[in-house]
Amino acid sequence: MALSVYNTLARRKEAFIPGDPDRVTMYVCGPTVYSFPHIGNARPAVVFDVLARLLRRRHRLVYARNITDVDDKINAAAAAAGCPISEISTRFTAAYHQDMAALGVLPPDVEPTATAHIPDMQAMIGKLLVRGHAYAAEGHVLFRVKSFPGYGRLSGRDQRELLAGARVEVAPYKEDPGDFVLWKPSTPDLPGWDSPWGRGRPGWHIECSAMAGRHLGETIDIHGGGNDLIFPHHENEIAQSTCAHDGATFSRYWMHNGFLNVDHTKMSKSLGNILLVRELLGQAPGEAVRLALLSAHYRQPLDWTADVLVQARRNLDRLYGSLREVAGWEEEAAGTGPDAAFVAALEDDLNTPRALAVLFDLSRDINRGGDEAGRRRLAARLHASGALMGLLGAQPEAWFTAGAPTGLGNAEVEQLISARRAARERRDFAAADRIRGELAAAGILIEDGPEGTRWRRAGQGS
Ligand code: AMP
Ligand code: ZN
Repeated sequence: MALSVYNTLARRKEAFIPGDPDRVTMYVCGPTVYSFPHIGNARPAVVFDVLARLLRRRHRLVYARNITDVDDKINAAAAAAGCPISEISTRFTAAYHQDMAALGVLPPDVEPTATAHIPDMQAMIGKLLVRGHAYAAEGHVLFRVKSFPGYGRLSGRDQRELLAGARVEVAPYKEDPGDFVLWKPSTPDLPGWDSPWGRGRPGWHIECSAMAGRHLGETIDIHGGGNDLIFPHHENEIAQSTCAHDGATFSRYWMHNGFLNVDHTKMSKSLGNILLVRELLGQAPGEAVRLALLSAHYRQPLDWTADVLVQARRNLDRLYGSLREVAGWEEEAAGTGPDAAFVAALEDDLNTPRALAVLFDLSRDINRGGDEAGRRRLAARLHASGALMGLLGAQPEAWFTAGAPTGLGNAEVEQLISARRAARERRDFAAADRIRGELAAAGILIEDGPEGTRWRRAGQGS
């Protein structure tokens, strides 16, 4: 089986055939860093992290996920907090990194920031002007939508309907109401860069086109994001990139995750129902939040309720419970790959619910008992499958102790460390690892050196 993905542009599932199998490129629209990430923002990060892990099995991948660090929402947040704009973007970029790491999201290969790519954006705007796809007016530069016949293909909207659309801003300097901003003037209190069109800042859409072009090339394999971005953001990215690159295809595949709602309701500031990742991390381990996000197919809407998280935690209890039952599977782990049915489910347009069902089947087979060697093989396969989805990376024992009250005293820590040394001496590495996991769960970090084992509490200097 090979990977197939639902391509929003083609409106069907297609076999994934990259331009160059030795350099697959993927760009995913990252966060606008003006507040803490909410659970909806985590959905594309987790979904495309699974896709990245899957692609890496067969290809060399260059995965870029940007940081939008110049945006009117950031300016507004800085004004409200009475601090410099860069303080807001730095703070919330760090918060994003922290929260995504807690969800087991691996860092992308490239994480470009908009502010570091202003010359690329200006160069692209210059090209669009020369080719007649853009025009300057009153300090703005606008994209001339009528100059690109393919406009509307991704979102399936008719151009006339788009141009007459109610959602677009009507401004006197626009030739057509559907034309969108590539560059806009900045007042002295706002971030701005000198340009041939005066001091200003980029529009949001050109940021992604320029960053994708710089890091991945003119044609990329996969472009992803939430389905709220299909129009206008991705439609506009296609228009800009295609026109600046003389008609070259911008992205071969477009993938969009469905929206996440909370208790059947769209999250919004005005309703006060925005659920932050860090709030959830206070209620459950990051791994449970991750599994909950993957429990629905990525293209389906996901209704987040307290129960979804409770269920995810229970499911992890089941899986880790099976691993804990089997002694010595770790020794099999190195030579064991993920389950074939599990991989097939993921390669079928990231069917994570089906993939999870395979994990539960494996867990059931382990619990059935039978010969120890067979159970060890199953456990190793369960573990390797979980890894492909970014799950089951903890020591089983640590999973069960992590939720319990911790706070080991120094004497207890010393006791556990000697028990671990004894286990190692009798070559019971599973027991030794279990103890290390227990210590880690209690926030105790250990380091083996020539003079024995040293330890410290996490968060304290060494
Ligand atoms: P933003 O920081 O708002 O630009 O969003 C970052 C990413 O999160 C984009 O890919 C959005 O499409 C996605 N996103 C935002 N809200 C949700 C939601 N409620 N459900 C799913 N994806 C979302
Ligand atoms: Zn984008």
